[in-house]
Amino acid sequence: MRERRALPRAKRESRFSAFALILSLAILVLGSLLVVLLQWSARQVDGMARERDRVTALSVLAQSTAQVDRSIAVGATSRRLRVAINAGRPDTDWLDAYTRRWFSGYAGLDETYLLNGRGDCVYALREGRRAVAPTYIAVEDHADALVALARSRLAAEPASAAKMPARRPPLADIRILRGRPALLVVQPVPGANGGEGRADAGGAFVVGVTFLDGALFDALARNFSLSGMHFQSIPSRTSPETSVPLRARSGTTIGYLAWNAFDPGTRVLSALAPVALVVVLLAASIVYVLASRLVRRTRDLEESRTEAQYQALHDPLTGLANRILFEAQLDQALDRCRDGKASLALLCIDLDRFKQINDTLGHPAGDELIRQVAQRLRAQVRETDIVARMGGDEFAVVINDPQDRAAVEAISTRIVEDLARPFALAGAKAFIGASLGVVLSPQDCVLRTELSRRVDISLYAAKAGGRGRYVFFSSEMDEDIREREGVVQALRVALHEAPEQFRVHYQPIYSSASGMMTAVEALVRWEHPERGLVGPGEFIDQAEESGLIEPLGELVLRQALRDARTWPDLRISVNVSPSQMQEPSFAETVRVLLEEAGVSGHRLELELTETVLMGSSSDVARTIASLRQMGVACALDDFGTGYSSLSHIRDMAVDRIKVDRSFVQAIETPRGAAIVEAIVNLAKVNGLQVTAEGVETEGQMRFLRELGCHELQGFAFSRPIPAGDLEYLVATGAVTATRALARAENGDWAI
Ligand code: C2E
Ligand code: CA
Ligand code: CA
Repeated sequence: MRERRALPRAKRESRFSAFALILSLAILVLGSLLVVLLQWSARQVDGMARERDRVTALSVLAQSTAQVDRSIAVGATSRRLRVAINAGRPDTDWLDAYTRRWFSGYAGLDETYLLNGRGDCVYALREGRRAVAPTYIAVEDHADALVALARSRLAAEPASAAKMPARRPPLADIRILRGRPALLVVQPVPGANGGEGRADAGGAFVVGVTFLDGALFDALARNFSLSGMHFQSIPSRTSPETSVPLRARSGTTIGYLAWNAFDPGTRVLSALAPVALVVVLLAASIVYVLASRLVRRTRDLEESRTEAQYQALHDPLTGLANRILFEAQLDQALDRCRDGKASLALLCIDLDRFKQINDTLGHPAGDELIRQVAQRLRAQVRETDIVARMGGDEFAVVINDPQDRAAVEAISTRIVEDLARPFALAGAKAFIGASLGVVLSPQDCVLRTELSRRVDISLYAAKAGGRGRYVFFSSEMDEDIREREGVVQALRVALHEAPEQFRVHYQPIYSSASGMMTAVEALVRWEHPERGLVGPGEFIDQAEESGLIEPLGELVLRQALRDARTWPDLRISVNVSPSQMQEPSFAETVRVLLEEAGVSGHRLELELTETVLMGSSSDVARTIASLRQMGVACALDDFGTGYSSLSHIRDMAVDRIKVDRSFVQAIETPRGAAIVEAIVNLAKVNGLQVTAEGVETEGQMRFLRELGCHELQGFAFSRPIPAGDLEYLVATGAVTATRALARAENGDWAI
């Protein structure tokens, strides 16, 4: 039923949670990017560290080679060493002591071999122990080339240089010795070149071996944190950057120094990664939670705003547009009509019997009825047309761009017929019906206020024409309205300035049993200076609508009670309109007027209409109770014309019913007779007095008399007459029905 302009809730919900999800996904992606970046920089750091390690390894290797070279070169400067090497019988003990001190000790050689000029190994020290010469055989193959080179260099030296024991740089090479990488050093022992045939003719040589995988590896591990340093013959395939090649003098690679990469970046990263992961996940979840909360807040706010807006513009009962929204929508539609681009029909719909339903079945049933009416109305028009509840039982419909007048007539007919169908309410079928006023724009007008006024006029005409119908606006209606307004204006002036223009006439009421006059009904007339005597039918409705009925009613009551003093034996009946009865001070007004006139309350009877009694508010009930206390009686006027059924008689707080003239006139038909009989009998059973109104013929009189109807009133006996005439009638004793009837039959109406 409810139509909303906003997105459906489910759609909005998913849009909002998608937003939260996207936000946290973005955090996740950013986090992942950060991790990738960290990884990349870790790898950069690792690469730099590995490069530094390679440089370190190479420079340590070069340094230790230089260290060995220097120490050997210094140790070899001893002339005595050359002499001792080349002696016929070398002084082995001295050589032993010297070698241990200089070559094993300072130079740190693992193996030392001393060669004489002929190239024979005269002394060998290996792993701290003196060894036999043949030990040199394993080294000789590698050392030979170096020795030969050293010899050739020596030979190339000028003779003078040989005389001075000068330091000569050693020749070095890297070789695999006994399966281990080793630094092989050949150091000529300086001195004069000996002659041919002498042992020292070729000089002398120290051949030293230092294994690289011993002390060097230890130093690298200890001082430069290159752990797991080892020798390998082929390069590491997995990480070539954690090794350096070892090259022989010839340039060939003989193997590799390899170690375990330290990789500081990866280390730091692997320590940080879990923490970073946790932080990123945590951040993403926090963002998700916060975002969804924010989103929920925003959504709630938006919802309550939309709800408030909706409430302000819609009728809570039916979900239809309320008056405010309707007027705005109508204004928009009329703007288009003004340009001549569009047209519309405005329908004003008023339910005929809503109040009765509300009063008899209760408010919940009334609400349900309104809801059902709203549904039926919506079903009769297009989605693009406007349906609104203007309040109470009043609805409005705008038909946008109707084809022609006939189309609007067709829709109006449908609405009238649809609302005339019964409504299922509180287990019962209720017949409501509706009256419609219809105006067309731009034909009738394009101004909303004027259009509303005209639709109200046509609605009024539909109701006045008997309800359950639609009436299109016509300019004659406007004249009608203007006339009514003119009446109201004249009434107001007359009541204020010339109340004597209002005269009260009296119509006698007779007892059907005795034929004696028992009461008179006061009926107001207006002696208009221009129009003459005007009947109440021409101004009572207008007086009710304009609220003038209260001063007018009071005027009649005051006059009637005053006149009643003249005929102390008659009851006086006065008509009271619904709005008078609803006035809380009404009973008090009656009391004051009775007192003023000095008339007993028991002589007064007030004639009320069904509408007042049906809608019995507590105010009306209280008024009736107060009147009863003063002895004032109440009669139900025009019985049968309203909506109450016979079964309601019993619930009416009245002492008398007055059977409406239309029933009395139908007495001549069998059906009419049966109805009147039923009414009279039922009223008597319920202990009520019955008066028949509008008795015009003797036949009617006889029938009612036989039926036992208590009192009779009608032109058959007397028309309403001025107080003076009634006084005359009473004074001359012409107060019986038979006499009156006789006069009537003689055509002697006016007395
Ligand atoms: P009502 O209360 O039903 O009054 C009876 C009406 O029926 C009177 O019309 C009366 O002239 C008319 N009538 C009486 N006997 C016959 C008959 O045999 N045949 C026909 N055709 N008509 C008959 P009236 O005086 O024109 O009053 C019309 C209505 O105006 C009254 O109907 C009453 O409802 C209302 N009215 C009159 N005076 C007052 C008043 O002071 N206050 C209020 N609130 N309403 C009044
Ligand atoms: Ca009456
Ligand atoms: Ca009446």
